[in-house]
Amino acid sequence: MPDRMLQFVSLPQQPPDKRSVAERRADFREIYRRFDAPEAAHQASRCSQCGVPFCAVHCPLGNDIPDWLKLTAEGRLEEAYELSAATNNFPEICGRICPQDRLCEGNCVIEKGYESVTIGAVERYLTDNAFEQGWVRPRRPARERQLSVGIVGAGPAGLAAAEELRAQGYSVIVYDRHDRVGGLLIYGIPNFKLEKEIVGRRAALLEKQGVQFRLNTAIGPDFPLAELRRRHAAVLLATGVYQPRDLAAPGSGLGGIVPALDYLIAANRVGLGDAVPAFESGLLDGRGKRVVVIGGGDTAMDCVRTAVRQGARSVACLYRRDRANMPGSAREVANAEDEGVKFVWLATPKAFLGRSEVSAVQGVHMRLGLPDASGRQSVETADAPPFRLSAELVIKALGFDPEDLPAHLGEPELAVTRWGTLKAHHRSFMTSLPGVFAAGDIVRGASLVVWAIRDGRDAAAGIHAFLESETAALAVAAE
Ligand code: FAD
Ligand code: SF4
Ligand code: SF4
Repeated sequence: MPDRMLQFVSLPQQPPDKRSVAERRADFREIYRRFDAPEAAHQASRCSQCGVPFCAVHCPLGNDIPDWLKLTAEGRLEEAYELSAATNNFPEICGRICPQDRLCEGNCVIEKGYESVTIGAVERYLTDNAFEQGWVRPRRPARERQLSVGIVGAGPAGLAAAEELRAQGYSVIVYDRHDRVGGLLIYGIPNFKLEKEIVGRRAALLEKQGVQFRLNTAIGPDFPLAELRRRHAAVLLATGVYQPRDLAAPGSGLGGIVPALDYLIAANRVGLGDAVPAFESGLLDGRGKRVVVIGGGDTAMDCVRTAVRQGARSVACLYRRDRANMPGSAREVANAEDEGVKFVWLATPKAFLGRSEVSAVQGVHMRLGLPDASGRQSVETADAPPFRLSAELVIKALGFDPEDLPAHLGEPELAVTRWGTLKAHHRSFMTSLPGVFAAGDIVRGASLVVWAIRDGRDAAAGIHAFLESETAALAVAAE
């Protein structure tokens, strides 16, 4: 064990090893190997134990990072795990897929000159190890309450809220239109970032805690929200955002041009052993094809890297801004480049060519202009000749918007913002409908898993406060 903290001067940053590119390209397993106990302890001991830890300030969950790093360095792994789990329902998931370069690690003060502490990798190690040691137990309530909460959506926001509310003694039922628990953790994010067993392990733990799941159950026209409100004392909407943004360019209706999430869901389902006709017919399979992905976020990165693993002939990514302005994690862009993806920066499609199936993308080059109202540099067409990229599969990864939830749920009184996200009170998380709360992407717009967890926890606290005050009011009325 290291004998003290502040080792960053003598101990270099050593992130977990990555599997070789050849190995990575050949399967869908996670690419990072896990720390062992000495590696975790040594890397944790690099922390300088800041009085004002900027890492924690920039972690959406406010994780007590310096304290659990110190416990890790001292070999007190069970305590370190308990401390990390006190503020995070799924630390092993965040340790794997948070864009740490933009959050905790990107704000570690050691960043300058010596490289940050590898916070995410230690966080992941602590909980993976805790599962193996049997330290992760279902949070059963001390007492049962005679009230139930219905949660719509089994993504990270819904699951975090479910765990918190069940621990308070509520009967919790989570409804999801999909056949598996996890939301985008299971059907969006690919295995090479987050293996599905990790999500399954959490779902099993929640079931042991007493959370009930009603899968293949869509809330909407056949099962309206009004019915759910009759069944439960409170309802949480954590439905995420799924409406793909589209491209209005000539030829965009050609065959072989597909939305990113259709492509990723198919790949994830195939990995889980499901039969997927659109994959088997070749429509959603990149094998042997020249694949062009349009977009620059996490979803685009997941598509290009999935195509590589499917055995695409070539994979290119078109993004209208430059590398420095990409919304996707810099770490994932570097991983994609290592795996053979070609990036065409400052480029956008103008037309899709082909008879009935796409055969090429015609693009134009862009340049960055003056900052717009949001402070982000605008983009405009550059004075350069157009270019052409051959393609048999084009994947549109341009982001997601919310669907018209008030209409879908049959609740016109459900207030939305001008972006279509649900309006929820910033502290209570209650929507415009009494007793109906909302959390995660459906409130924030497409965001991050760690924010969904944070919102789920906060919404659970809001629901608990609401139900406590309702119960107290009923007791007064009965006196
Ligand atoms: P979701 O995870 O979307 O879950 C919502 C659930 O609600 C779904 O299971 C859905 O089936 C269900 N549902 C919706 N409507 C209904 C209905 N009417 N009835 C019943 N059920 C319903 N974030 C990161 O932090 N790191 C990453 O690396 C990362 N990669 C990503 C890659 C991709 C491809 C995508 C699309 C997103 C990625 N994100 C990443 C973002 C992250 O996945 C989301 O921010 C997060 O999952 C949002 O959680 P949520 O619980 O709000 O919604
Ligand atoms: Fe960093 Fe995410 Fe963990 Fe917070 S939850 S410490 S941001 S990896
Ligand atoms: Fe440790 Fe870096 Fe956080 Fe400071 S900012 S407490 S050095 S991890």
